Amino acid sequence: MATALVWFRNDLRLADNPALQAALDGGYTPVPVYIHAPSEHGEWAPGAASNAWLHRSLDALSGTLEERGSRLRLFVGPSLDTLETLVAATGAEAVFWNRRYEPALEQRDTRIKKALRQQGLHVESFNSALLLEPWTVSTKQGTPFRVFTPFWKAALAQWRIPACEAAPASLPSSDAGPAGVSLDALKLAPALDWDRAFWTHWQPGEAGAEDALEAFVEGALHAYADDRDRPDRIGTSRLSPHLHFGEIAAWRVVHTLEESRRAGTAAHIDTAIKELGWREFAHHLLHHFPETPASNFNPRFDGFDWTPPSRADLDAWRAGRTGVPIVDAGLRELWTTGWMHNRVRMIVGSYLTKHMRVHWRHGAEWFWDTLVDADLASNTLGWQWVAGTGADAAPYFRVFNPVTQAEKFDPDGAYIARWVPELAALPVPARSAPWRFPELLRDCAPDYPTHPIVDLAKGRDAALEAYRRQRERAPATG
Ligand SMILES: Cc1cc2nc3c(=O)[nH]c(=O)nc-3n(C[C@H](O)[C@H](O)[C@H](O)COP(=O)(O)OP(=O)(O)OC[C@H]3O[C@@H](n4cnc5c(N)ncnc54)[C@H](O)[C@@H]3O)c2cc1C
Repeated sequence: MATALVWFRNDLRLADNPALQAALDGGYTPVPVYIHAPSEHGEWAPGAASNAWLHRSLDALSGTLEERGSRLRLFVGPSLDTLETLVAATGAEAVFWNRRYEPALEQRDTRIKKALRQQGLHVESFNSALLLEPWTVSTKQGTPFRVFTPFWKAALAQWRIPACEAAPASLPSSDAGPAGVSLDALKLAPALDWDRAFWTHWQPGEAGAEDALEAFVEGALHAYADDRDRPDRIGTSRLSPHLHFGEIAAWRVVHTLEESRRAGTAAHIDTAIKELGWREFAHHLLHHFPETPASNFNPRFDGFDWTPPSRADLDAWRAGRTGVPIVDAGLRELWTTGWMHNRVRMIVGSYLTKHMRVHWRHGAEWFWDTLVDADLASNTLGWQWVAGTGADAAPYFRVFNPVTQAEKFDPDGAYIARWVPELAALPVPARSAPWRFPELLRDCAPDYPTHPIVDLAKGRDAALEAYRRQRERAPATG
């Protein structure tokens, strides 16, 4: 039986895996391979939390392959060299993989595809990650979309998502070629186990993704449109790291949501599918505007008067010691679990880029290192949206007030009390703005900052003043 290399990347699953399926359909014995080559990601090599997740996800994939009679071979080194060595050693006639959309990886994959085809190999790549690949949707003029609503309308009008395919029950095995290195040799898991608490919240791997989807459909989905903005509740799916690592197909999520459509759930299902649409939009933008992880989408912000951050202020923000409880709660949730609620991501981002007037790149880099769902497309969209520099962004002059945000979305102060436990002893009205209750703060939480590192009113005024100056310099900005 002829052999095909199946090059696993962010598609760490056996169900709904077009590259694996192509090998089987073509009558090949698949040789599953993972190659660790972080330098090929350009400036955006995966961060520490992503690597910790990846270690466990590869372990899970390895287990499911072995249960079916195959095995995952791990390698460290340049991808093309490794694939060529493997082709020679296994006698493989074909190489299959599922596509990635990060600019550096797209370019690398194009080079690899060309080189391997020139050697006479059958090489194919597939979509495993998206409902619609970035180049399949465009405006009537044939240009990329810059605004979500028309993008999503066009996407819905033309999408034909694949049917779900179960994981193969068994796989042929091949012993030809090198066995590869151990998972520990990839050095993905942290040497000091600072990620210990993560794993009470997460189960990386395909089975964990399916469990998360099932839990969502049986639980939070039924109130999703109302609760998705409530960080004090389990109101969202928590599927983001599973989707990022390709442990579940986005189209399986959509099919499963649609299957539970009945009276009373329609609005929640439509809202959940629309949120998946933001992930699609993020990939559309990253593909068409590949410079945006580092540069403002809106170039009129290039001369904006950001404040060079002091080390102390940036450290206080990262550690959740700004003195603004909802901001601190979010950053501590992130540090402890590797994830932060979407509403709170917006609040902490707004405080950094507006009250502190720190360039969004600093926030994006911190998230990149600490989120288990760190994703170049979604992180770039999220930060540029929050900062007001992005496509279809919240305008810079819309400055979130973190006190009113906390009062609205964490009305009982439960989220704050959970992640900033030193404030749990304060009565609810004091939890969102403890500096207004100095005596209570001194008595109940003497170690908590007495004032925000940037005063809310002064920070807002200074941000709006900087925005006014920027508009004078670049008047066409909205
Ligand atoms: C500053 C900032 C940075 C962000 N960085 C990332 C990131 O690195 N990786 C990431 O996956 N998401 C990012 N997001 C988007 C969003 O916060 C997360 O996708 C969401 O919180 C994940 O939780 P969930 O799976 O429970 O979401 P749900 O509400 O259950 O949504 C389902 C899925 O839809 C997608 N989705 C939902 N909202 C968005 C959105 N606004 N943008 C893109 N996709 C979305 C996600 O894949 C998510 O898993 C960021 C948002 C902001 C404001």
